[in-house]
This record gives sequence, structure tokens and C-alpha cells, in this order.
Amino acid sequence: MEKLEKFKNLGLSDQTLKALKKKGFEEPTPIQEKSIPILLKGECDLIGQAQTGTGKTAAFGLPIIEQIKEKSKHTQVLILAPTRELAIQISDELNSLKGSRKLHIVPIYGGQSIDLQLRSLKKRVDIVVGTPGRVIDHIKRKSMNLQGVSHLVLDEADEMLNMGFLEDVEIIMNATNKEKITMLFSATMPKEILRIAKKYMKGYEFVAIKKEQLTANLTDQIYFEVSTGDKFDALCRIIDIEHDFYGLIFCRTKVDVDKIGRRLVERGYDADALHGDISQYQRETILNKFKRKRTNILVATDVAARGIDINDLTHVINFSLPQDPEYYVHRIGRTGRAGKEGTAITFVTPEEYRKLLFIKKITKADIRKEKIPNVKDIIDSKKKRIKTQLKNIIKGDKHGEYINMAQELLDEQDPETIIAALLKHSYQDELSGKSYSEIKDISVDKAGTARLFVALGKSDAITRSKLLKLLEQKANIEEGKIDDVKIFDNFSFITVPFEDAEIILHVFKKEGKGKRPIVVRAKKKKSRK
Ligand code: AMP
Repeated sequence: MEKLEKFKNLGLSDQTLKALKKKGFEEPTPIQEKSIPILLKGECDLIGQAQTGTGKTAAFGLPIIEQIKEKSKHTQVLILAPTRELAIQISDELNSLKGSRKLHIVPIYGGQSIDLQLRSLKKRVDIVVGTPGRVIDHIKRKSMNLQGVSHLVLDEADEMLNMGFLEDVEIIMNATNKEKITMLFSATMPKEILRIAKKYMKGYEFVAIKKEQLTANLTDQIYFEVSTGDKFDALCRIIDIEHDFYGLIFCRTKVDVDKIGRRLVERGYDADALHGDISQYQRETILNKFKRKRTNILVATDVAARGIDINDLTHVINFSLPQDPEYYVHRIGRTGRAGKEGTAITFVTPEEYRKLLFIKKITKADIRKEKIPNVKDIIDSKKKRIKTQLKNIIKGDKHGEYINMAQELLDEQDPETIIAALLKHSYQDELSGKSYSEIKDISVDKAGTARLFVALGKSDAITRSKLLKLLEQKANIEEGKIDDVKIFDNFSFITVPFEDAEIILHVFKKEGKGKRPIVVRAKKKKSRK
């Protein structure tokens, strides 16, 4: 256990240390080092300023697991998270941290069958990890009683604020036991979050860890417009034009990760694939090979790429866009680290363009559009590389044993002819443009505005100013951006810039609560210039 000494010194039990060993954790991350001792004392609330990827789940999860009882009759812990993916991820992480303890952890999120959730909530549940909307549904149905919770966690509070969940969070906080310990984690601390902290949290300790260099200026962010069918060829072109490509390629599903990994190997690249179905042993082997640069391409899912700590990647490629803006930041934060420059490349299909705008807006990322490298440029780049390699052989004096043969050849032919023949012999496949398929030129950029239909009208006591206020409160859209408002008896219309429309649609999708969303794209005049 010596390896886990630092975890032990934080006050964790042997049972937990065993689980950590199995998980392969060796030493605590900074947020864990700071939070765990405070939380184990159990005397005050905690606010943690930390981003995804810093190990914050274990920072709050381990003390909770240490402190709650097995076989309790009521729900002891509620963890609120902004997205379904995060809820599932937290629940998986806690399950792997609990070790042999008999704790029942259930993720509860919108989109999953409510009947299924009702059934699992009827049984004994110790820890609920839920998204705010669905948790409220269960509180209203009385299928979730939070009066006995000893711990409440608000994870990624700023993201919940961005997504318009703050009111729901307050309702939920009011429905919980007053005596509980509350923990709030957030990457940023906007004033609305601090207001919640003031209002609902008792004396709290504040821990912050230095911001990881994320969207740092060292990462150049580019996107390419490409159709789904051309993505693989575009990927090959990007790898080929670079001299020393060393990169992570993100796909959303395990199936894609396997497929892309396999196709790359078939085309002769040194690539490997990493996802959740790969055993811990294989994972380590694959990571070792990648770290030692025996493979220079690793295709991975978001979850599988977590915890990979490599500082000198030249590229991160989003083969498919992440589900969540947070993941974008996390993915691209893997390049441009430790003072090295890096490039983050995102493929965007016409269907994904809106999502890119949403990600751009939420993350405030500066992502510029570029054209996929053309075949001539790739071949030119390869020629340059070959020239450099040849010069290095000459410099390193590694060609001595071939001098005699060279002289024999020169006796018969002029130097240009011989060298040209040699180049053809050695590089004809590599320098042929034939291996590249044509890539369709598409443009998915659609600037302008969108007309939205809002299912609220005069009969709902909606006025122009009420509607504007609602949009400002829920989706953070300033009044000045909303144009051409028309209020009818049962519905209304608004026109907003394209990017803001995405935010509004996203936020109000969650408002529909199983019924139809309140805001949808207007059927006619979809996009007005
Ligand atoms: P989180 O920020 O909680 O989403 O964690 C990010 C990733 O880091 C997860 O895959 C964790 O399993 C992993 N992780 C958390 N703490 C540690 C640690 N002390 N050592 C190694 N990996 C960790």
C-alpha cells in the first residue's frame, strides 16, 4: 500500500484504499488533497472551484462513501449534475470507488423511462445522481424523499446556471433536509452561484485549484466542414500533411472508435483504439505504447481518454463533436500543454453545425474555419519530409556501405536519372495522390437569424416584455438580440441570431418536461436574412 500513502494520510480507510488500488489511482489530485480532509471532518460545507478532469468526483465522492451508512432505509445523498452524461459518469465513478460496500447508486435523468426510474427508486437507494428537471419530477410524484439526505452535491453549478436550471436547483435544495452537508463544485463562480451559496450554505470552506491551461492561446482551434462519408479521408489527409503527428482522435461511440482505429491500421498507420470495453491491462499496454510513441495515433471515447496524462500531443481531433460543450473544452485541453503548441481540429457535418455554434457560445472558444488540405499540398509536404530524412542520413554518415554501389550506378547513368529511379523505387506509393479519395466541398455555414415559435401567448398572460424577460432569465439572451416579436392568443414568434436560437432551443427543450418543448423552430420562414 505504500504507493497509496498519500491517500491514507488524508484519512481514508483501508477499505477505500483497496478500491483506489483497484482503480489504479496512485496519489491524490490537488482538489482531492484539499477537499477530502475537510469533508471527512464533516463539520462544514464546501465550495470547490475545479473543472472536469481534475478528479473532483472522487474529491467529494470518497468522503461521502466513507461517511454514509450501509443498509440505510432512506436516500442519504443527492448529487445534482447538469447533463445526463455527467450523471451517468458520476454514478459509474462512485460505483467503482465504493469498493465492497453495499451502497446502491442510481442515476436519474430526463430521457430515460420514468417507470424504470420509479421501480429503482422504490427499492433502497443510497445515492441519487440526477439532473435537476427529472429530480423535480420525482419530488412532485413523491417518488423521491429527500428529507433524510445527509449530503447534497451540486456539481458543475455554473453549467447548471448556463442551462437555466438554477430555479430548479433552488426548489430541490428547499426540499432537502436542513441538517445536511452541502458541497458545491463549479469551474467558474458567477454571482448567481455565490448568491445560492450565501443563501443555502452554512459556514463553508472554499478550495480552489489552479485552472488547468485549457483553451490556452497555445492551442490553435480549427474546424473543417466535411460530410460524414468524407471524415475518414479528411483525417488521413490531416495526419499525412504533418511531419510528426502525435494525436488523440475523439469519437463519440465505442463502435466508431473501433472502426476508425481499425481503418487507420489497415491504411498503415500506427494507431490504437481505447474505450470502456477494453480491459484495464490492455488499456495500460495501449497507453504505454502511445506514451513511448510506438503508436502516434490514439482513437478514444471521452470517458476512456480521461486520466490520460500526456503533455506533448501535437493534435486533438474531434472526429465527431462531443455531446457536451464541457467535453469540448476538456478534449482540446489535452493539447497545447506544458508550453508546447498544439492544434485542435474539429470535423463538422452540416447536421452538426448548430451544435458547433452552441459549443462556441458556451465555451467562448475561438474556433476558425479552414479548408481540408489538398492532395498537392500533402504530397509537397511528404517530399519535404523525405528530403529532410535523406539529409539526416547524410549528416549522420549512415550511408557509407552504399557508396560503392552508388559509384557503379554513376558509371552507367547520370545522377538525376539514378536518383529519380531510386525515389520512384522507394516512395512511389507514398508520393502517389491516388490513395486519396476526392473530398466533397461543402459549406455548412449559415449566418443570419432564425424564426422561433414559442408555445405561449396572450392566453398565458404573455406580453412582449414578459417574453423578453423569460428569454433573458432562462437563456441569458439580451433583449437587443430579439427582433420581430409577435404575440398571438396561444403562441408567439421571435427572430433571433442563429447562435442564440440554438441556446434558446437547447434551454427550452428541458422546459417541456416530457411534453412538447415550449420553443421550436418556426415551420415557415425558417431562416431569414
Ligand atoms: P473527474 O474530474 O472527477 O471527472 O475525474 C477525471 C478522471 O480522472 C476520471 O477518469 C477519474 O477516474 C480520474 N482520477 C480522479 N482522481 C484520480 C487520481 N487521484 N489518480 C488518477 N486518476 C484519477
